[in-house]
Amino acid sequence: MIGLKSVVARAPGKINVSLEVGPPREDGYHSVATIYLAVSLFEDVRASERMDSEFTISLHPDSAPFADPETFPLGKDNLVVRAADELRRYTGVTMGADLEVTKRVPIAGGMGGGSADAAAALVACNALWDCGLNREELAVVGAKLGADIPFALFGGAAVGLGIGDQVSPMLLRRSTYWVLVPASYGLSTPEVYRTLDKLRADQDVEAPHEVDIDTVQALVTADVNALGLNLRNDMEQAAIHLAPEIDTVIGTGERLGAVRGIVSGSGPTIAFLAESKTHAEQLRTLINEELDVDALVVSGPANGAAVVNHHAVFRGN
Ligand code: ATP
Repeated sequence: MIGLKSVVARAPGKINVSLEVGPPREDGYHSVATIYLAVSLFEDVRASERMDSEFTISLHPDSAPFADPETFPLGKDNLVVRAADELRRYTGVTMGADLEVTKRVPIAGGMGGGSADAAAALVACNALWDCGLNREELAVVGAKLGADIPFALFGGAAVGLGIGDQVSPMLLRRSTYWVLVPASYGLSTPEVYRTLDKLRADQDVEAPHEVDIDTVQALVTADVNALGLNLRNDMEQAAIHLAPEIDTVIGTGERLGAVRGIVSGSGPTIAFLAESKTHAEQLRTLINEELDVDALVVSGPANGAAVVNHHAVFRGN
């Protein structure tokens, strides 16, 4: 028998309380000014030691039913493998790892699930290989792969500038409660951006440089009514253009008592702001009955990527 080290790290999905999007830049990216809120829907990544330099990727059986090999790539293009490989390049480590994801965040749902997986993989492999990188250094490695990865590492709430990768943490005094309505389909983030650009073709749009201070204030103090008035997502119009049913779902949730409904990131997941935890639970029941969906209650802020479990797995040799 040999004892192989194994580390599990957990990272949160996110919603964007505010997402302002500028015109496409020369490098193809869009400048954004956003307020991220990490919510209590988590991805787990287990990284287990290997004696060679290979990576394997698999889905844990406790993953949500939507996660299957059709939607979740089980190869080198998975962000988990790419993040582990990027960390290996950065640190000069030569070992591989067996990587297993417990998927709970909707895939292509606008909640940064892939970014959360990458952040969890960075934290798990950093511990597995004893690299000793701190969170800021892991964020530098993560930013090479995706603009939302630094935020998934830090968690909490934050202002994101640049392409969303320049993260400034915000300290919130209280939590807010949300009902998430995942869709049975995904939307491709690049396609939503392209659609937004087309819809705005005759408009003069400026690159945003800062977030709205009233929204920050409402989130910090958990002033739900003010927050409801200030929720903003520039991508919503494009997401609705691609999937018009989003508009019906938002209208239904608001009619059933949500303070406000908004598309999360590039969609199609919809986040409904509730007045309290109890209100969120009541609202979820009403939405599930009316729309025949599996809505979830989450709260934010949630913690960023961290190790949750560290032990040796014994295998026959
Ligand atoms: P974002 O809001 O960050 O733009 P998203 O949450 O809408 O992204 P993800 O689920 O992160 O979307 O991933 C989108 C696509 O990336 C998927 O369709 C899938 O093909 C690919 N992908 C690669 N690695 C992963 C991963 N670990 N989890 C989910 N999708 C992944």
